[in-house]
Amino acid sequence: VPSPNRDLPVRTGTGPVADRDRALTVLLDPALAHVVDLVAWPDGAEIHVANSEGEAAVDRTDPDRGFVTIRGRNPVADQDPLHATPLAAVLADPSPPAARNAYPFAARRLISAFGDPDRSPDLYVVHSARHHWPERGGHLGEHGSLDAGQSRAPLLLSGAGVTLTGVVDAAVRVVDIGPTLAALAGCAMPGTDGRVLTEYLCAAGSPGPRPTAVVGMLWDGTNCNDLIDLAQQGELPAVARLLERGGTLRGGALAEFPSVTLVNHTSALTGVGPGRHGIVGNVYFDRATGRQVLANDSATWHRAGELLRPGVCTVFEVVAASGRASACVNEPTDRGADYSTFGLIRSAGNSDGARSLRSALPDPADDPHATAEWVRENGDYAWSSQVDAFGLAQMRQIFGGDNPQWPSPPLLTWWNTTLTDSVHHAGGPYSEIARDGLADADRRLGAFLDLLDARGLLESTAFLLTADHGSEGADPACTGDWDEALRAAGINFRDEGYGSIYLGVGARV
Ligand SMILES: [Zn+2]
Repeated sequence: VPSPNRDLPVRTGTGPVADRDRALTVLLDPALAHVVDLVAWPDGAEIHVANSEGEAAVDRTDPDRGFVTIRGRNPVADQDPLHATPLAAVLADPSPPAARNAYPFAARRLISAFGDPDRSPDLYVVHSARHHWPERGGHLGEHGSLDAGQSRAPLLLSGAGVTLTGVVDAAVRVVDIGPTLAALAGCAMPGTDGRVLTEYLCAAGSPGPRPTAVVGMLWDGTNCNDLIDLAQQGELPAVARLLERGGTLRGGALAEFPSVTLVNHTSALTGVGPGRHGIVGNVYFDRATGRQVLANDSATWHRAGELLRPGVCTVFEVVAASGRASACVNEPTDRGADYSTFGLIRSAGNSDGARSLRSALPDPADDPHATAEWVRENGDYAWSSQVDAFGLAQMRQIFGGDNPQWPSPPLLTWWNTTLTDSVHHAGGPYSEIARDGLADADRRLGAFLDLLDARGLLESTAFLLTADHGSEGADPACTGDWDEALRAAGINFRDEGYGSIYLGVGARV
C-alpha cells in the first residue's frame, strides 16, 4: 500500500528553534520532574528525548540503531517490552518514576508520532506515570504516555487458524493487529508498519480448520495484566473460554504514541502508526488549515475516516478487495466495512453524530449484563453500558441468522467495547469498578459465544481480543501543570490533548 506522506522531506520544526529551546528549559527543570516524565522533539534527522536527568537521540531513518545518549541518563534506556508484567510485578512497583520505568519500541513509536508534516506537534510532553490532573480532565486511571503501563493492551488469539496456547512471554505492537486479522481472513495487507503474527497462526496451506469467520474485539483501555489474571482466577469465564482454545501474550500489544484512543483504534485497523494514518491525537492542531481538530468526540467520530491520510488502507478495505464482506460495530475507523454502526449515523445525516443515538439506545437499568449498582451511581457507566448493549445487539443481528443481510456471518467482524475504558478511568486499574466493568464485558462476550455455539459456528471462528492502550493508576498527591510554567515564561504555544505542544501558533482558546 503506497503511503505518499512517508516520503516527504524530514521536518525540521516549524516553530522557531529559539522558542523550542526556551520551552525545553522550562520543561526540563527539576521542579517539574514529578509531572514531566520526558519531553520528545524532532531536530533535523533526529528525534530527541530528555528529562531532568539526561538526553538521548535517535536517527529517524534508522530506528534499529536505537537511542544514543547525549548527556546524563538516557530517559528511554529501558525498553523491555515485558516491563511491569505480570500482575504481581506491577503491584509491587505501580506507576514507577522515570528511572524505574520502561518505554518499549520507543524509537519507532516516537518517529511515527512526529511523522506527519502538518499535524505532529513541535514537542511532546509525556506525563509521569503518577501525574494526576483532574482540573484538566484527568482521572484516577490514565493512559496516553509512552511508558509500558499506559501503552500495554492485551493480545489474545483463539480458535480456528490459531496455534498460540497458554500465556507466552512475548509482546507485539498494536500495528500488528490489522495485518494479523487480514491473514486470519486469508488476505494480505502489505506495506504496513506492523507485521502478521505468523508465529501464532497456522501456516497458510497447512491442514486443519481455516476460519470461516474472524472476529476482532477491542476492549478499550483494558489493563493487560489484570485481564490475564482475572481470567486465570475464573472471574472472566468467557475470556477463559477463549483461552481454552488459544493463548495470550504476557506483554500484550504495545500502543502507538500517544497511547490514546483514536490514534490506536486507527493504528490497529490500518496497521500503520500516526505518522502515516494522520490521526496524531484524539485532538490535534493542523498547521495546513490553522484549525484544531477534535478527532475523538461523540459528535465527530462518524467522520473520523475523513481524517485518514492518502494511501492508508483499512483492514475492511483489504477484505472488500478480496470480494468478501466485513462488519464494524461501534468503531469510528470503519472505512470499507459493508456494515458499520457509524455508517448508519452518516447515512442518517445527523450532524451531531453519536450524540443523537442516545434516545435510541437500550435502557441500562434493564440490561442483564450490566452491574446495576454502578449503572445507578455513575453516569459514564450507564452511558457506556447502553452503547455496549447496543454493540451486543448488533453482533446478534450479524451472527444470529435471522437478518436477511447476513444469512451467514461476514468474513471479518470488528466489535468495539467502550465501558472498559470508562471504568479504568473512573477507578484506575485493579479497582472494584474496573473489574466490575470487565465482568460486564465478559458477560456480553459470553452471550455472543453462546450464540455461536448454538449455531455451530464456534469451531470455525477465529478470535482476536485486544485494546487500544493500557491503564495506569494516577496518584492524587502528584499534581502540577507545565502549561502554567510555559505561560509564565512568555512562550507562545498551544497544548492540545495536554501534552502535544505547538509553538508559535497562539494559546489554545
Ligand atoms: Zn481508548
